[in-house]
Amino acid sequence: MPAKIIDGRLVAERLQAEIKGAAAEYKASRGAAPGLGVVLVGDDSASAMYVRMKRRACERVGLRSEARILPADATQAQVEAAVRAYNSDPAIHGILLQLPLPSHVDEEAVLNEISLAKDVDGIHPMNLGRLGMRGREPTFTPATPTGVMALIKETGVAIEGKRAVVIGRSNIVGLPVALMLTNANATVTICHSRTRDLPGTVKQADIVVAAVGRPEFVKGDWIKAGAIVIDVGSNSVPDRANEKGYRYVGDVEFESARAQAAYISKVPGGVGPMTITMLLANTLKAARAFPPA
Ligand code: NAP
Repeated sequence: MPAKIIDGRLVAERLQAEIKGAAAEYKASRGAAPGLGVVLVGDDSASAMYVRMKRRACERVGLRSEARILPADATQAQVEAAVRAYNSDPAIHGILLQLPLPSHVDEEAVLNEISLAKDVDGIHPMNLGRLGMRGREPTFTPATPTGVMALIKETGVAIEGKRAVVIGRSNIVGLPVALMLTNANATVTICHSRTRDLPGTVKQADIVVAAVGRPEFVKGDWIKAGAIVIDVGSNSVPDRANEKGYRYVGDVEFESARAQAAYISKVPGGVGPMTITMLLANTLKAARAFPPA
């Protein structure tokens, strides 16, 4: 039987409706909506699109959002100053630093400037470090990995004791997903570009998370029968049949993987909508943690 599809759009819609209600209550009791401040450096079109999507999502659920957009040649001091301005702005509860930054800007130094209480993207080195340490709690966990975990939870299958394989070890997806799965008591293998026998390793997994950035890279015959497959990939590929001339596909060959798996997420409509939703949820959480004025 083909896998059940884990519909990220539906889950995101449900969670966003809850966030909307909670944001309205927050505004009624505190007099202002939870606020997200975005720092965008440069004119990368994909980054600008992500920032627009986040602003629209904030509007949909009744969060306030604003952006500080700096030119591509902004100095280190200017980027850090933009972050610090949001740190001290009482109307802003969460800060999103849109990555990547231009290569002349020291990303780690800017991330270190973000107030831990406002690190709603969970990418401050202290938060990522705490995620990996026993007995420590990050103030926030990164949006995409948190969305991945929420999709796995939707299946109702217990994570504890399962074998999980995460393909990809980036700071924003692969590494934190692997840490979160470990914290949920899965036994986790992290794969990357130097992994030998990737198909054989993936074949042992009850849970597969693909975060590679290569279209349809993971094949159906790599997937163990009955596995849960979460596809983080978001790759644009040429498509003449589409009016835009391209379409988005994941890192997993969907149809062949669906034939093997028990549960699978789609691209688009899987992890993508969850990422934005988790950012909204973290912004609300940050606002609630602030003492009333
Ligand atoms: P990334 O920083 O480029 O990392 C890719 C990872 O894949 C690296 O760890 C790399 O290994 C590994 N890899 C590359 N080729 C491989 C191969 N042949 N075999 C095994 N591993 C290989 O990418 P990312 O930022 O994590 O993003 C991954 C994908 O998720 C992209 O498609 C991105 O667009 C998507 N994404 C989606 C969302 C969303 O909200 N839907 C959010 C973030 C990212 P090495 O470390 O050895 O180089």
